[in-house]
Amino acid sequence: NQSLHELDPEVAAAVDAELRRQQSTLEMIASENFAPVAALEAQGSVLTNKYAEGLPGRRYYGGCEHVDVIENLARDRVKALFGAEAANVQPHSGASANAAAMAALIKPGDTIMGLDLAHGGHLTHGMKINFSGRLYNVVPYHVAPGTGLVDMDEVAALAAEHRPQLIIAGWSAYPRQLDFAAFRRIADEVGALLMVDMAHFAGLVAAGLHPSPVPHADVVTTTTHKTLGGPRGGVILSRKEHAKKINSAVFPGQQGGPLEHVIAAKAVAFKIAAGEEFAERQRRTVEGARLLAERLVTADVAGAGISVLTGGTDVHLVLVDLRDAALDGQQAEDRLHSIGITVNRNAIPNDPRPPMVTSGLRIGTPALATRGFGAEDFREVADIIAQALLPGYDEGTAAKLAARVSALADRHPLYPGR
Ligand code: PLP
Repeated sequence: NQSLHELDPEVAAAVDAELRRQQSTLEMIASENFAPVAALEAQGSVLTNKYAEGLPGRRYYGGCEHVDVIENLARDRVKALFGAEAANVQPHSGASANAAAMAALIKPGDTIMGLDLAHGGHLTHGMKINFSGRLYNVVPYHVAPGTGLVDMDEVAALAAEHRPQLIIAGWSAYPRQLDFAAFRRIADEVGALLMVDMAHFAGLVAAGLHPSPVPHADVVTTTTHKTLGGPRGGVILSRKEHAKKINSAVFPGQQGGPLEHVIAAKAVAFKIAAGEEFAERQRRTVEGARLLAERLVTADVAGAGISVLTGGTDVHLVLVDLRDAALDGQQAEDRLHSIGITVNRNAIPNDPRPPMVTSGLRIGTPALATRGFGAEDFREVADIIAQALLPGYDEGTAAKLAARVSALADRHPLYPGR
């Protein structure tokens, strides 16, 4: 019964250091967030000891009466949150949710369409060496060169030509909303199923700030740790007719025992996501991204060859376009890192630089909104980022910007008391 600090000081020290890093820097990786203390508590509980293969009420192990309560709460809450007919809360991650959903709906060798990875899609939407690219015949669609928006004419044309069994709508790096009704029409025209991967924008959907894919899609997958702000994990929502196939694709198809400690933390996150405070946080998230985009199109930034893709954002992230800048994605990421802002470099459509360097940055606001950042704070963050990317940046500038970053972090303490 030794504590972590007593038993394993090396691991404990690294955990402590990570907490200090999260507290003292500004987290702007668009796919990250801070799970609430209640979710951390649930996830760090004795539920981690329990095997519970199967579904509530139909388990292959004894002693599941309490984890059944928890998994039922998680399922009921997420169904209510998104108005879905059926839910499976067991996928260990977003990638596992996608693998199971696809295994349930189609068979190896079938044709899928997804947004090209280089245009903002996810690995699981058909990347060559991912399971999706290896198992299925992939026809990627793209954003239009002029607008940077998903080219629905191309989606329709490719669908008519290749007659896919499944169309995937969703993204990891795209700053606008998708037209789910249009995807549905195209899918219906060619007899395809429609899967929406709302991992990135699920929190916005829950808060009513983004159209819901649920009425349009056969299956909706999501992660629970991005805008939704819960523990790392995945969920599959579906129409009732697909539920049985999806449940058996998750277990025994893809997974063994579900992580009931994570499912408990998911249940907590869904409870929070149904509340007004969560909706208010999502409004600050979207507003923060909009303010950031506005700052990154002003004259000083434009003069340095820096702009934002699609000219702005409707969601929780901004994609900075450095194609015309002297600064590349790697250098920009490093500069921001050195002043205490964490982002990730990101290839952008038709990126002239190699994938390890890139000409883009993906910058997101969910984690800062969770810390309590409001419009004024986001304006300050936006200006710090702009100043860091401008030419003439030197050690003196870096020191001043790092001090402004620290002041913001101090103004909004993360996990106070820890
Ligand atoms: N789907 C989308 C759209 C994502 O952006 C991601 C993660 O970045 C995933 C799925 C995969 O989630 P995970 O990392 O939990 O496997």
